[in-house]
Amino acid sequence: MSFLQKTMKGAKIGHFKNTENSPSVVMPIPQEVCISMSQHMGPPCKPVVAKGDTVKVGTLVGDSDAFLSAPIHSSVSGTVKEISEIVVANGSKCQVVVIAADGEQTVDENVKPPVVETHADFVKAIKNSGLVGLGGAGFPTHIKMNPKNLDAVDTLVINAAECEPYITSDYRTMLERTQDILDGIAAIKKFIGIKQVKIGIENNKPKAIELLKKETANDPSVEVCSLPSLYPKGAEKVTIFETTGRVVKEGMLPADAGVILDNVTSVAFIGQYLRTGMPLVTKCLTVDGDAIAEPKNVVVPIGTRYADVIAFCGGYKKPAKKLIMGGPMMGILVYSDSYPVLKNNNALLAFSSERAIIEPESPCIRCGRCMNTCPYQLQPRQIELAAQNDNIEMLNRLKVMLCMECGCCSYVCPAKRNLTFSNKLAKQKVRAASAKK
Ligand code: SF4
Ligand code: SF4
Repeated sequence: MSFLQKTMKGAKIGHFKNTENSPSVVMPIPQEVCISMSQHMGPPCKPVVAKGDTVKVGTLVGDSDAFLSAPIHSSVSGTVKEISEIVVANGSKCQVVVIAADGEQTVDENVKPPVVETHADFVKAIKNSGLVGLGGAGFPTHIKMNPKNLDAVDTLVINAAECEPYITSDYRTMLERTQDILDGIAAIKKFIGIKQVKIGIENNKPKAIELLKKETANDPSVEVCSLPSLYPKGAEKVTIFETTGRVVKEGMLPADAGVILDNVTSVAFIGQYLRTGMPLVTKCLTVDGDAIAEPKNVVVPIGTRYADVIAFCGGYKKPAKKLIMGGPMMGILVYSDSYPVLKNNNALLAFSSERAIIEPESPCIRCGRCMNTCPYQLQPRQIELAAQNDNIEMLNRLKVMLCMECGCCSYVCPAKRNLTFSNKLAKQKVRAASAKK
């Protein structure tokens, strides 16, 4: 992979930021919430409550001893109705804690601002808060804040690109919770020993750029970087390269390049948590798509079922053919609106059959557009062929594991080839082959 270009490639896609001027609204407490035990990258948590238990807002309901994990808290006060299972988007089953809300929203007595004086205190507090990457990845934040090479980390990159179409929840965070972001930055700088902060924002959000530039004008360590509106500027390696010029090579973590990368809403949450001690129990998500009657940004208790969120947005104005958790480029298709909001859920999109069109594939015309668009300069058509032939050696040579499944190659392909899907399959084949070895 060569990074000789000054800016990484990508695709010019429609923005459809229909809700950018919709201030976030807090949804009334639903009758029940369904809190998933799998809301982070890593092994799921196990319920630590039982049917009939009384819980309050902020009560611990799920936990795990696994390193790659984050605790889960109740978003409502009420009674545990049942511990059951749901089938998640990838077809696997996952435990859920269903809580009947009493509508009182009584706060758990253990919720109080953490005492943080050292880096170890900070990491412990972030772990206890249940924070995971709120931009969609769901990586437990306490692990990011405790890199092995702490002394070599000198830069905090805040990912505020929000490059996926439709989603504006991070944008609203920037406009509405600016002080939380500044408090989060101050805490990370203090406890990690960060020297410089880069905030990467796509240039289709001039108001957010202007506001954050104004609010950080007196701090020379903070730079607000205006990024070109070229999808996917919010991808981890891309944001780091665009804001710092540093390359996170294959197999490297951002910390290996001296960087901690965090999503802007995650940083705002850190600021808020250190002040209040309230763990991660609510989420702001953009609800949009042509099947939604009243698109808006909604703050909901985590575990609220999609059907309740959509009802709050005026319901469906036409039958929804496709329901997506996240953005249209990298989001996950969900099969039922009984599915609950997760910590890393930044959007819920519902499209009718007029918009959810899957065009038929035709043969490759060898135009090279897929390759010329890929930010990592991969060769998606060659990967597709190698996957079809089960040629694992070739897939490794083509560096398929670098593919972040951003969807650019499929988006630009005039033959409508579903290259991203073939890349996903190809990666599964490589993983299976290496597990077999
Ligand atoms: S999906 Fe993978 S191969 Fe396609 S453009 Fe994105 S990173 Fe490149
Ligand atoms: S963009 Fe589509 S048609 Fe063009 S080379 Fe790639 S796969 Fe073939």
